Amino acid sequence: MEQLKQAIRDRGKVLSSNVLKVDTFLNHQVDVNLMAAVGQEFAHLFKNEKITKVLTIESSGIAPSFMAASTLGTPLIFARKKKSLTMNDNVFVSKVYSFTKQETNEITVSKDFLLPGDSVLIIDDFLANGQAALGLVDIVKQAGAKVAGIGIVIEKSFQDGRSKLEEAGYRVESLARVHSLENGQVTFVDELIS
Ligand code: 5GP
Repeated sequence: MEQLKQAIRDRGKVLSSNVLKVDTFLNHQVDVNLMAAVGQEFAHLFKNEKITKVLTIESSGIAPSFMAASTLGTPLIFARKKKSLTMNDNVFVSKVYSFTKQETNEITVSKDFLLPGDSVLIIDDFLANGQAALGLVDIVKQAGAKVAGIGIVIEKSFQDGRSKLEEAGYRVESLARVHSLENGQVTFVDELIS
């Protein structure tokens, strides 16, 4: 998605050879027009999959998922990273190792919101080693529902998340695929000269 790649070039910051900071438009301040366009693109890519729910993870997954769910006409569910006081034990739980925080957290989704027979589109902001996406897949499976596909805003293609998800049989659609962050420069997979 060219508009997204341009935002990454202009407003992203390479923190190291494996971490990209995009708090100017996605992870802290939100560019609502860009995130609306991102959500519409996901809806377009998965329009034939009879999606019944969009599932993401708080907090940075919510903005890019919102317009996807709105366009597909489905509810948006976000997995919680901390169990809320109002949540009882009626929850699906999965453990996720966080790439950026380097710690394992439990994510939870109420059993009221994911049902057998649901066809679920999983969306997340970044794909690195695939732990967050696999945690969401695990929750969908616990519900007896189907993973219809996985939509990623920014994939770091030099990490192995995509191959893990594809090996597990899932369709992965990433709107920007970063080939490298070496030397403070972002290069995208589709810019490589073969
Ligand atoms: P994974 O679970 O695929 O290893 O990592 C994906 C999760 O880690 C995303 O939900 C995202 O929050 C975070 N993450 C991974 N890499 C980056 C990165 O380069 N920049 C930012 N801002 N978040 C990242």
